[in-house]
Amino acid sequence: MVLQDLGRRINAAVTDLTRSPNLDEKQFDSMLKEISNALVEADVNIKLVATLRTSIKRTVNFKDLPPSTNKKRLIQKAVYDELVKLVDPHAEPFKPRKGKPNVIMFVGLQGSGKTTSCTKLARWYQARGFKACLVCADTFRAGAFDQLKQNATKAKIPYYGSLTQTDPVIVAREGVEKFKKERFDLIIVDTSGRHQQEKELFAEMSQIQAAVSPDQTIMVLDATIGQAAEAQSRAFKDTADFGAIIITKTDGAAAGGGAISAVAATHTPIVFIGTGEHLLDLDRFDPRAFVSKLLGMGDMAGLVEHVQSLKLDQKDTLKHIVEGVFTVRDLRDQLSNVMKMGPLSKMAGMIPGLGAMMGNMDDEEGSLKLRRMIYICDSMTLKELDSDGRIFVEQPSRMTRVAYGSGTSVREVEELLTQHKMMAGVAKKMKGGMANMQRAQAAM
Ligand code: GDP
Repeated sequence: MVLQDLGRRINAAVTDLTRSPNLDEKQFDSMLKEISNALVEADVNIKLVATLRTSIKRTVNFKDLPPSTNKKRLIQKAVYDELVKLVDPHAEPFKPRKGKPNVIMFVGLQGSGKTTSCTKLARWYQARGFKACLVCADTFRAGAFDQLKQNATKAKIPYYGSLTQTDPVIVAREGVEKFKKERFDLIIVDTSGRHQQEKELFAEMSQIQAAVSPDQTIMVLDATIGQAAEAQSRAFKDTADFGAIIITKTDGAAAGGGAISAVAATHTPIVFIGTGEHLLDLDRFDPRAFVSKLLGMGDMAGLVEHVQSLKLDQKDTLKHIVEGVFTVRDLRDQLSNVMKMGPLSKMAGMIPGLGAMMGNMDDEEGSLKLRRMIYICDSMTLKELDSDGRIFVEQPSRMTRVAYGSGTSVREVEELLTQHKMMAGVAKKMKGGMANMQRAQAAM
């Protein structure tokens, strides 16, 4: 089951329950059962699911709930918190600091997406002001160096490798030494992967690790490997103790639950997730943002950060969000940024409610819908655009005028304003959080 489907199912189970007029314990139990089934079908380890179920039950403690309690809110929160716990390893990932060489070594099986992720990560840090480079220590697979070279050239990232040297330990050491001398902040070493967890591969990994003394070793896990993820990550952990995980191919038709279980088994944080084959398809992983997105609640912080790294025009949105404000114009700017960032289906998930509104639309239908939303904004007066949207409720004739001017319908205008209201609510809640995020980024 694709992660998105998992989110949809959990969401539906919670929504069904919270819509019910007389919520009783039987309904609560059947919601728990549906959530558990969905998680197990997504390959999440059955023991973890059982723990999650018991914890939600204990937190909600349905029998002893005083009648005045807002049961729905309590249940929603318990489900959210337990899902966050499931993907949160309670361990802080390593954070590279500028001005000193940080060496990151990648490990993982062949085909897991190592080489692709190395380049994505180098680009990610490069976009944030790090002087980043790549070292190809995969001398096992013919063409590995070529692939890295091509990726690196496309991303304009300096690289090192050898077509003649067959000892990966020597290549790794030479590359890291060279880039250290050249004062790079971030040196990423790609190692070779084999089809299985062969002894030789593991011996080579620990030799490279000893040669380059990485500040962090990252294991790349393919989301499509399902239940095997747990055993695989344990085996890697025993040899090349990695401090972080990148899960790739979360965009595919994979049951990402196996990878989630691997995190729990090794108590290792997922730092990034690969969401496609493109260089930009890498999202920073944050347990709360991941669960919010999974449940269709959006990931505004992620969206703002992504837009920032693309150096698109953020205008005043960021400043506004820090202040807890979100005008109709901010919505318009974000919509047009989403259009520039494509593929739409992926980006829409980051805006609260937009993923659900787009439902099963394909990218073409979705982008038509977005364009119509932008037309609506463009038919508004400056006063309307810079307002908090209440002006339309006070004078509904404005909606008719805007619908007419934009060639859309009043219902579509209403829909846009509902969308805006939801995002303004999120912005309000994020007030403190965004300021912290900005401070953290400035300190990076
Ligand atoms: P390596 O052998 O571990 O270095 O794996 P590669 O980096 O060569 O990747 C193997 C394949 O997976 C390539 O076709 C990549 O384009 C693809 N790939 C890597 N990451 C992702 C991802 O996040 N999503 C998708 N859809 N494909 C990916």
